[in-house]
Amino acid sequence: MKDLDWSNLSFGYIPTDYNVRCYYRNGKWGEIEINSDEYLKLHMAATCLHYGQEAFEGLKAYRCPDGKVRIFRIDENAERLQRTCRGIMMPEVPTQLFKEMVTKTIRLNQEYIPTYESGATLYIRPLLLGTSAQVGVHPANEYLFIVFVTPVGPYFKGGFATNPYVIVRDYDRSAPLGTGMYKVGGNYAASLKANALAHEKGYACEFYLDAKEKKYMDECGAANFFGIKNNTYITPRSSSILPSITNKSLMQLAEDYRMKVEQRQIPEEELETFEEAGACGTAAVISPISYIDDLDTQKRYTFSKDGNPGPISTKLYNHLRNIQYGVEPDVHGWTTVIIE
Ligand SMILES: *Cc1c(COP(=O)(O)O)cnc(C)c1O
Repeated sequence: MKDLDWSNLSFGYIPTDYNVRCYYRNGKWGEIEINSDEYLKLHMAATCLHYGQEAFEGLKAYRCPDGKVRIFRIDENAERLQRTCRGIMMPEVPTQLFKEMVTKTIRLNQEYIPTYESGATLYIRPLLLGTSAQVGVHPANEYLFIVFVTPVGPYFKGGFATNPYVIVRDYDRSAPLGTGMYKVGGNYAASLKANALAHEKGYACEFYLDAKEKKYMDECGAANFFGIKNNTYITPRSSSILPSITNKSLMQLAEDYRMKVEQRQIPEEELETFEEAGACGTAAVISPISYIDDLDTQKRYTFSKDGNPGPISTKLYNHLRNIQYGVEPDVHGWTTVIIE
């Protein structure tokens, strides 16, 4: 293993030895290529640079206490990328190719998978780009699919903890019939200003309401939302949010606990009735929310009076993490051992 200080990593970028690439030309995917160059040679008129023909995925490899390396629900990432491809007119990356490239990239860089004790993980970033030159607004006819990895630190350095969030009304991340349900870079470009504003004011992240009516909870910048009340797990149904694989898994666990699960519109005022609330995604699993401020209406919705995460969020967090680390039984078959 590399001699790196695993316990001081942030969510940044550290170079590793290899990335894995595959080109789409003449209507088909080529051979998998192993590359040690961190740079791409890209045509200046590539469609990914001008018209946002760019999609990505994000997942992690976990070095587990039993010594094995596992990944979580990779088929879901492959399927989501395929939906994104259909959404912005890019050729679908076949599930088999996706899995083979992700597996290869992890194995080639296994010295960079942080120790179990550090709480750090290896973040995997599959990226698909339209590469052919064109100044007209049309889909490219050539594409590059690349997978790279980088070690990232644990989200909660001082242990699982709550954070304050803020509702922004002056910005939308995505439109109801736009690209919010696809994992494309453009949605992030649209969120950068609101995110900077939220950070400036001391919040962990910004919260978006539905763009059309500004009445219902949508999601945070890069994580889905859920609330808990009356033994029910409630999460927004909206055409402008990204279907989180973490959220889907938490819904399943909640069902396993015989809780009720509701996926529906959540009016902002309903926040008052939640006993617990959280943001969820691969980075943190769950980021429990202490309170959400709405600066325009001067309202504060408080979910944690003592500042600690609630009991159900804590149970869900520990359970999902234990499945990812091979500590609790994986009854749904969510994990894949990549290195024995
Ligand atoms: C990736 C992402 C999430 C989280 O999805 P996971 O599959 O749980 O990591 C949530 N919202 C947005 C906007 C995202 O891009």
